[in-house]
Amino acid sequence: MSDVLLSLRDVRQTYGDGEAAVNVLTGATLTINRGEIVALVAPSGAGKSTLLHICGLLERPTGGDVDIDGERTSKLADRQRTLLRRHRIGYVYQFHHLLPEFSALENITMPQLIAGEGQGTADERSKALLDIMGIGHRAHHRPAELSGGEQQRVAIARAAANRPSLVLADEPTGNLDPATSDTVFAALSDLIRQQNAGCIIATHNHDLARRADRVVTIVQGKVEPLAL
Ligand code: ADP
Repeated sequence: MSDVLLSLRDVRQTYGDGEAAVNVLTGATLTINRGEIVALVAPSGAGKSTLLHICGLLERPTGGDVDIDGERTSKLADRQRTLLRRHRIGYVYQFHHLLPEFSALENITMPQLIAGEGQGTADERSKALLDIMGIGHRAHHRPAELSGGEQQRVAIARAAANRPSLVLADEPTGNLDPATSDTVFAALSDLIRQQNAGCIIATHNHDLARRADRVVTIVQGKVEPLAL
């Protein structure tokens, strides 16, 4: 199995047309290996969300190739893209979006049940994920009974519930204080390495970005390495 998990080649994304056209990505190239965490640091409006949406198959680019696990996704029909997204990709957002009436454990179990896993196996995996995230003792609490950092760790565990190859995190610590951000980032790193997944984490936090394996930015629509 190749180490390359995600490969973007010469990806272009233009919104609108004619005089109103905005060329957000103009030939973005990026490779993510298994077990690798790449931080994406760029000013607001540079195209971070656009890049993450394209990597996560939520948007089709205007041009270029997006390969996941060696599969050329531009050739796939919408239905196949949806399946790939559901089974191979996990998302973490700035706000946790947990279901308020369910416990931490249930929030992680649910996507597994939807994917066809049995209740017993799904519950066991949820417990194991909560342990990796250091919040096993909070399994039966509802989101409102958890701190911001705990809520975000549950959201990360949920993103990993179906063993995605790729985790895309958009400002996952943007809402947390520095010490809590550290804990959440450490838990996310442990998880990525244990599952041999890959991760792109968009963040404004330079201290966290330095702890990633690599830092990249977007300059005039292209992905470039960034030294912090
Ligand atoms: P970032 O996440 O770095 O702040 P975005 O990817 O959200 O940047 O946006 C990059 C640029 O593309 C911005 O100028 C934004 O206004 C524009 N943009 C994003 N999505 C759309 C869209 N669906 N239609 C038109 N313009 C868009």
